Amino acid sequence: MKYSAPKGTRDILPSEIFMWQKAARTFSDICHLYGYEEIRIPTFEDTNVFQRGVGDTTDVVQKEMYTFEDKGGRSITLRPEGTAGVVRAYIENGMASLPLPVRMFYDITAFRYEKMQKGRYREFHQFGLEAFGAEGPEIDAEIISIVNVFFKKMGLDKISLHINSIGCPKCRKAYNELLKDHFRPHIDEMCEDCRNRFEKNPLRMIDCKVDGEKDIVKNAPRLIDHLCDECRAHYELLKSRLDNMGIAYTEDPNIVRGLDYYTRTVFEFVSENVGTQGTICGGGRYDGLVESLGGSATPGIGFAMGEERFLLEAQAQGVVFDKPDYVKIFFAAMSDEAKDYISKLCYQLRLEGIGCEQDLLGRSFRAQMKYAGKSGVPYMAVIGDEELSGDSLKIKKMEDGTEMTVSKADLIGYLKGI
Ligand SMILES: [Zn+2]
Ligand SMILES: [Zn+2]
Repeated sequence: MKYSAPKGTRDILPSEIFMWQKAARTFSDICHLYGYEEIRIPTFEDTNVFQRGVGDTTDVVQKEMYTFEDKGGRSITLRPEGTAGVVRAYIENGMASLPLPVRMFYDITAFRYEKMQKGRYREFHQFGLEAFGAEGPEIDAEIISIVNVFFKKMGLDKISLHINSIGCPKCRKAYNELLKDHFRPHIDEMCEDCRNRFEKNPLRMIDCKVDGEKDIVKNAPRLIDHLCDECRAHYELLKSRLDNMGIAYTEDPNIVRGLDYYTRTVFEFVSENVGTQGTICGGGRYDGLVESLGGSATPGIGFAMGEERFLLEAQAQGVVFDKPDYVKIFFAAMSDEAKDYISKLCYQLRLEGIGCEQDLLGRSFRAQMKYAGKSGVPYMAVIGDEELSGDSLKIKKMEDGTEMTVSKADLIGYLKGI
């Protein structure tokens, strides 16, 4: 019997993991610089958590959830994203009593039963963060700057920021009436989804995949032109904060969110690289979400970024990830006494934080030399009778064959420096 990884999953192999680690470390370092701390949430939750609070942009997610009954008869769902679980944790752990804003980041796997296509997996990885308790646009601007710093640190430059405001329930109510007046005479020309959305959620008719190119959709009134005074002021201040930091943006009235608890700021980072265009990171404000999951009314904002998508984009933009040399040196033994010496030496070096390797397969001296050449280790040293009785070793740089004589007393200092 030969097994394969389930459809929609993949192994991330040791030969590529350093790219993931680099991205994860960079992301967490930046979050820490801004005062965010990591949260680790469960892989699965009570299905209701996601039915009430999936923080994604589409209702599609609900249809793609991995939902099952556990042996105790509970309905369980594998998380399709991070936001709902973080909000549940915020409420359950009484974090509202902590100094505000409460700011947390995460690095998770998530699960969606998606149609198979290139670069899409049913188990995938996301970075993201959420911040609770701050209503003003300062934090919106700060969160956007976090993503910006991340792309800069990772070396991606063909990315643009798109922002919009989708207002609050107050201005959306008035706007929905405007939209209905606009679409009413043409509703028969629209797709079935749109005819359903007309009563429930006319805002979603604007980003309809089927009707999006029709004039009736293109000429629809824009929410951004009908914000209430408070939402207008919030949006203007966000833009001035971004201007102030020198972060360029495009105002994009077409970014909308379908669910009621989304409010005001929405943003996307979009690739401008030929061949890989598309959204890499999406985020926004959800001032109604904590309440809809049973907490007290609390403003919130966050974003998420697909790691698979990010890494494809980084490679498409020519970002080179250097594989770190964790192991610096291989010691080849010419005798059994040399083996004893090396195993003690390696232990001491590792205590000092120096990565090193020795033969573990009982190889002949020749085979050890061959292994050192193949393994990609940057330095090696041969231990024979001379080295055992003398007080120095010869360290060979594999790249060009140059040798350096180093006294045993100075070995740790020398290896730390290379
Ligand atoms: Zn408003
Ligand atoms: Zn439609």
